[in-house]
Amino acid sequence: MDRPAWAPEGVDMQQASPARMYDALLGGSHNFEVDRQAAAMGKKLVPDLPRVALSNRAFLRRAVRFMADAGIKQFLDIGSGIPTAGNVHEVAQSIDPEIRVHYVDIDPVAVAHANAILLSNDRATATEADLRKPEPLLDEVRRSGLIDFEQPVGLLLVAVLHLLADADQPADKVAALRAAVPAGSFVAISHLTSELRPEDAAQLGANAANQNRIGIHFRDRAGIETMFDGWDLVEPGVVELPAWRPESERDQHEAPGRSLGLAGVGRKI
Ligand code: SAM
Repeated sequence: MDRPAWAPEGVDMQQASPARMYDALLGGSHNFEVDRQAAAMGKKLVPDLPRVALSNRAFLRRAVRFMADAGIKQFLDIGSGIPTAGNVHEVAQSIDPEIRVHYVDIDPVAVAHANAILLSNDRATATEADLRKPEPLLDEVRRSGLIDFEQPVGLLLVAVLHLLADADQPADKVAALRAAVPAGSFVAISHLTSELRPEDAAQLGANAANQNRIGIHFRDRAGIETMFDGWDLVEPGVVELPAWRPESERDQHEAPGRSLGLAGVGRKI
């Protein structure tokens, strides 16, 4: 298969990636056959999987609006994914065009596509870095100068921490980021959970590991709540994705009691 223009050189077109699989689930066009097959297998096991992705995107939009309404002027979106409908800079800059957004992702396709669509936007950029190494990641972000770490930051860790293994100590990574931002900053976290549908979670996790060599770590409520240690949870706390401050019926992508994701927003005081 020829390498498409949007895929940077060196990308392995035979190995599925979480960013491209998620893009395929959302109906995007920046994915390879191997990603579409992985997404199709996930849908076969759990037919409402695309709804989980939509539910997560809807949470992301609401969390960004909430933070922008609370006065946040700059966002650091880590594990930002391949740009799709309702990107953070679009949501935030529609509220205040001066808002700045720094996207970070480990996936070169996500970063290349983000920078391609941001060419004419001098208040948003994207950088390739690894959440498992917060200090070099923060150094990269500081170097670009878009985020002022003396001012409150809207930190977005949406659907990324479940891609870190327990050995990566995801809660410690959140704590390291928390230490880098001032009081008044917010964090939004969403995370795949085994809490409500343990069998579906186990099947999806095993399939991703065995078929696609991707580690997806569904965690229980306690494991996810730990990631908010040191943050003051805003109402309604850590809840199912569609239950976090829904704005309309259209936010109800998953049935109550059936979400595969938990989400919350915390404030640093
Ligand atoms: N945040 C977006 C959203 O919720 O719509 C995209 C979520 S997507 C499921 C997860 C993203 O996290 C992927 O783009 C993947 O490349 C990225 N990711 C995975 N591990 C990462 C790491 N260690 N550091 C930075 N990004 C990572």
